[in-house]
Amino acid sequence: MIPGGEPALRATVFFAALGAMALWEALAPRLPRSFPRRTRWPSNLAVVALDTLALRFLFPLAAVGVAEWAAMRGVGLFNAVGAPFWSAAVLSFLALDFVVWGQHVAFHRIPWLWRLHRMHHADLDYDVTTALRFHPLEIALSMLIKMAAVAALGAPVESVIAFEIALNGLALFNHANAGLPPRVEPFVRWLLVTPDMHRVHHSVEPAETNSNFGFNLSVWDRLFRVYRAAPAAGQAGMEIGLPDFREEGELRLDRMLTQPWREPAARL
Ligand SMILES: [Zn+2]
Repeated sequence: MIPGGEPALRATVFFAALGAMALWEALAPRLPRSFPRRTRWPSNLAVVALDTLALRFLFPLAAVGVAEWAAMRGVGLFNAVGAPFWSAAVLSFLALDFVVWGQHVAFHRIPWLWRLHRMHHADLDYDVTTALRFHPLEIALSMLIKMAAVAALGAPVESVIAFEIALNGLALFNHANAGLPPRVEPFVRWLLVTPDMHRVHHSVEPAETNSNFGFNLSVWDRLFRVYRAAPAAGQAGMEIGLPDFREEGELRLDRMLTQPWREPAARL
């Protein structure tokens, strides 16, 4: 059964993490901003509102609904073998994190998927709202992949909720324009993707963009040898964004939504 307080819990974690990260990066910014918040935030916040509405409309069941359905029907690996709750929950969490990591790699490697995903990378500053900046089509595709993974695994409802809340909270954390204290950072990074680790992935250098694909656990990038400790130019010297979309107009909502269908050379 899906717990009744679930939507409120998700909303609370989302707004608390958004507020905390916004405060953190205001108090101790890691990089100077290229644009004031008012240039980027309205579009990034509008996109997440649009994404949320699109998901509600297209997939009212969502991944949790699929988990509940799979449990009732005995569908999926862990339901079929009758795995004990805790092992099914922990393994599902890990497997879902790996699926999201693999999907992220695919969105970089497959050209038509990259067209959808590159909107996320075209943000010209890196802050907590970059975490919200995904094209609605990528969000819809991600949900389809996640629902398929949940059904195949027979992931417990609680595991799916925990995973989605962790992914949401950690994505806000690791897109923050802030840094953990240098003495603490390596220990956290050993397990989780930190802001300094994920920022490398938003570098304008293609080799750096194609590294550090993780959002939650840092293990997958190390395991598959696409881990990069730091940008070549250093955190302070690195440039954020994509080489092809550097005009301020690209930060406008309409340009963001139409970006997948434009050639990079078609400048404003
Ligand atoms: Zn990416």
